[in-house]
Parts: sequence; structure tokens; C-alpha cells
Amino acid sequence: MRVRVLGTAAGGGVPQWNCACPGCSGARAHPGWRRRHASLAVQAGEGRWYLVNATPDLGDQVEDYPELHPGPEPRRTPLAGVILTDAELDHTLGIARLREADGIEIVATAPVRHALLTGLHLGEVLTPYARLDWRPLGPEDRPLGEGSPLAVGAVPVSAKRPRYAAGLDAPDDGAWVVALRLTDRATGRTLLYAPALAAWPDAFQRAAEHADCVLVDGTFWSDDEPLTSGFGARTATAMGHLPIEGPDGTAHRLAALEARTLYTHLNNTNPLNDPTAPQHSGLRKLGVEVAADGMVIDL
Ligand SMILES: [Zn+2]
Repeated sequence: MRVRVLGTAAGGGVPQWNCACPGCSGARAHPGWRRRHASLAVQAGEGRWYLVNATPDLGDQVEDYPELHPGPEPRRTPLAGVILTDAELDHTLGIARLREADGIEIVATAPVRHALLTGLHLGEVLTPYARLDWRPLGPEDRPLGEGSPLAVGAVPVSAKRPRYAAGLDAPDDGAWVVALRLTDRATGRTLLYAPALAAWPDAFQRAAEHADCVLVDGTFWSDDEPLTSGFGARTATAMGHLPIEGPDGTAHRLAALEARTLYTHLNNTNPLNDPTAPQHSGLRKLGVEVAADGMVIDL
């Protein structure tokens, strides 16, 4: 299994267009600090890739990596579709960037599909340009296309809805936000991807124990970071993201796993955006990595 990390930032990116916090200003001064919105490209076959989440940076993310470029025919693309972990805007706005295609395959859970169709009205807006081919995403592993060596399944994480979907008539269940389990069907190797973890349910713990690589929500370093940074009125946990540090944080849970473990989806307030921050050495001692834009994970 080959996975390309297309971005590692939470909503807004690093830098965020209207923000001059230390992380964003640092990224303007040091281009190496920049992070695009969190996304992956996963290889589902020879010259066949799926995007995991479709971010506002999607066009640039495709251009950054030759394996995602079209060719050799003028309108042949290696992008087969998009797999969604949730319906948040920073994970779905990029779908509109794909409207030049004849059809867009979208692999999503029932509540995510419902939110995109009835909250964002994506069907009404996009189908005059491109067909939307919806594929169900559920707990059972399904191959990504007929004969694909890669399978995907969902591990429900939380019932946190996007703000635009607060009033939608839809059941509250854990399929609003899921972790993706990507499995190489030949080798059995597994990657678990969870960019939004409002909770750490038992099913997620079991999936993490069976995974070879675990890439999770590193939005906030501490639970009070949104408050102390002056940009939020709620804790990290209340915003749907378990913090990294502390007794309810995720670092000690990751350190206990046998898998290779990495953080992604960093908010611009996260001190980890500064490569010289002391928080990095603490994570290194625990054996936990911070994902970087452009890295390749081969499993
Ligand atoms: Zn900022």
C-alpha cells in the first residue's frame, strides 16, 4: 500500500488567510512551516488513486505530485474518487474543484452523504456539471473498485455534525465522523486514518491495535488551546478534537500502540507548527511522529 500525505493542517491551513498568530506568521516567514489542509492520496491500483477528503487546496495538492497528474491522453486522470471521513467544509469543499470530470465517485457514510446533499446542496449545484456516483461506506471492508488490491472500511468515531448540518433531520450516530481503515488485501497491512477524534471509542482502540500505521487528529496540543490562543470560546474536546497532551489526551494512547503513529490535521495555533518547539522532543521520546506534507507511507 502506498499513501501520499497531501496535507497536514486543520481547517484554515497554515497560514490561514486572515490570521497573524505566531503559527501563521511563522509560516509566512518560513515557507517550510506551511501546511496544506489535511488529506491523503491512496493508491488503489496501478495508476489509480483515491483522495481521502477533498480540501480547498485540492487543485494545488494534485499539481504538487506527478503521480496525480493526468495523462498520457489529454483528459485521463489517475484520480478515481474521493473517500470522506466526515462532512466538514475543510474536508468536502474540494469536491467542487472536481466538476470538470464526467463523474465524481464519492465514498461516504449515510449521514455524510445526507449532509452534503441536503445541507450543502452539492447534488443540485454540481450535477449540471458532473455526475455524482455515491458509494456506501460502512463497517465492513470493501475493495475500492472491482479487483482493487485496496479495501476501505469505516470505524465510527462520533456523532459530531458540521455546524451547517446542525438542524438537518438525520439520525445522530457515530457515522457522522469515522476513522478509515485502509487494508492492502494481499498483505493484510492496515492504515488507520482519523483526522477528527472527538472521542476514543473502544472500537477505535481495537482498530488501532490491529493497524500497522495510525494517523490521527493532532489539531490541538492542549485542551484549553482554543481559549488561551484567544480564537475560541470552547475547549478542544468541545470542538470535536481530543488534545494531544494530558490525561485525556491522545499521546499516551498512541505511545502504547505497536503501530507506527503520526499526528496530522494541526491547527495553526498548535505549537508543533514551530519545528523548534520543545513539544517535539516529548513526542519523540514517546515514539510518536508529526506527519509532514508530501511524505510517503509505504506499508
Ligand atoms: Zn493562525
